[in-house]
Amino acid sequence: METILVLAHTENDGSLAKSAREALHAAATLHKSLAGSKLVIGLIGQNVQAAANSIAACPATKYFGVTGAEFSQSRYTTDAAAVEAICKVAQATIVVAPATSRWARVLPGVAQRLGGRVDTHVTGVAVANGKISVNRWFYKQRMEGALTRTQRPWFIGIDPGSQTPCERGAGTASVEMVAVNLPDAAKHTTVVGIREPKADAQTIKPDAQLLFVTGAGWTKKQADGQTHLPEAGKLILDFLNKSRASLGSSKSLVDLSGEGQAVLPFLSHMNQVGQTGATPRHAKGLSTCCHGEEPHTVGWRFIGERRAVNLDPNCGWARGKADVLYVEDAFKVMAKVNDLLAAGKT
Ligand SMILES: Cc1cc2nc3c(=O)[nH]c(=O)nc-3n(C[C@H](O)[C@H](O)[C@H](O)COP(=O)(O)OP(=O)(O)OC[C@H]3O[C@@H](n4cnc5c(N)ncnc54)[C@H](O)[C@@H]3O)c2cc1C
Repeated sequence: METILVLAHTENDGSLAKSAREALHAAATLHKSLAGSKLVIGLIGQNVQAAANSIAACPATKYFGVTGAEFSQSRYTTDAAAVEAICKVAQATIVVAPATSRWARVLPGVAQRLGGRVDTHVTGVAVANGKISVNRWFYKQRMEGALTRTQRPWFIGIDPGSQTPCERGAGTASVEMVAVNLPDAAKHTTVVGIREPKADAQTIKPDAQLLFVTGAGWTKKQADGQTHLPEAGKLILDFLNKSRASLGSSKSLVDLSGEGQAVLPFLSHMNQVGQTGATPRHAKGLSTCCHGEEPHTVGWRFIGERRAVNLDPNCGWARGKADVLYVEDAFKVMAKVNDLLAAGKT
């Protein structure tokens, strides 16, 4: 009989992130399909009561918590100790956790300590004939594999964005506190703060409906024989501000900065989509001034509706990689789109 533990850390304000609710959804799916299984929750953070209350109506029968200032921030030693303690008390055989950067660092180590196994980047879970299987993509999202394991505990890191978040109602949950004795060695690393871009400088938005991709064409000489970088930057930022889209880029465009050419200052390699970049998940994608070559478009695997604007009717997007290709000048198209957005017409 499986004991399925959903493991989550709270956010700074004590709430649960969407990714944690997605992991809960995956775990609840397993629980529903596995006769005789138990579903329990493990929460880690400064204070976990509010988070537990926010999902109190879910089918979990027990809540465990590790709390205190030592556990408020991401730190391998303290997080690993807390996760290990909860797994032992809960006697978890299956551990389902959101693959946040915090958990991704910790889960493999704890799996090793407990003699278990871990699968990361899981995008689906299922039960057939009483056997659990998980899905994940390999070789830069080109092949999907389904895996089963007999080893326990089995840690399953759910890729954020791959599940429907569980929207079970709030209530009052009774949380059993788990004591963790931290040796001094666990406190050698001091977290002094977090450096991150200002909220309005953060162009990567995993939860956005639309992925807006910029390609090297924005920096190329245009019909008048000149480049128009300042205008390109303004059009792109204007569109991002108005549409709240997430900004992706081709490799060629982000590489230009490394080659010392004048480029768009708000782009970094973090924005790169493709074989050697990210594979984001958005309902829609709009590509501009990007050729749509295979190493780039392979990163569009999980983008729903795809559109592209390119001057070249024979570009890669025209070869079955986009649903709609507008053969037009992206400078003109985006200026018009921005005008329409400003007028509230789209
Ligand atoms: C091993 C390997 C890994 C790679 N990994 C990645 C990756 O992860 N991601 C990635 O993106 N690439 C990757 N690449 C590179 C990829 O093959 C392409 O070189 C790159 O994607 C091209 O970028 P681009 O389309 O922006 O630029 P270009 O090929 O220079 O295309 C620019 C496009 O802009 C269009 N254009 C110009 N002006 C306008 C205008 N005014 N309006 C509309 N369109 C206009 C042009 O018609 C052209 O199609 C990889 C390559 C290799 C070999």
